[in-house]
Amino acid sequence: MCECNNLKDGQDVVDHVKSKGKEHFASKVEHQIQCDCGETFTFTKVIMNCPKCEMTYAVTPCSSGDINNIKPAGIKYA
Ligand SMILES: [Zn+2]
Repeated sequence: MCECNNLKDGQDVVDHVKSKGKEHFASKVEHQIQCDCGETFTFTKVIMNCPKCEMTYAVTPCSSGDINNIKPAGIKYA
């Protein structure tokens, strides 16, 4: 287990991933994100914004294989 499991919410994930310089890493799996705004988009990188409402979604590279680990961080957080 890595320290990523201690991250509590999306903002923690964004801050952690950015602190490691990994914000442009590809997600292990391309996930289809259904945003609260109704938009569906393909999650290809570990930090991405919804193309419609710009809600930031984030996951750590090591846990990016499971869509349940992707967390919203807030509008334009990243
Ligand atoms: Zn959205």
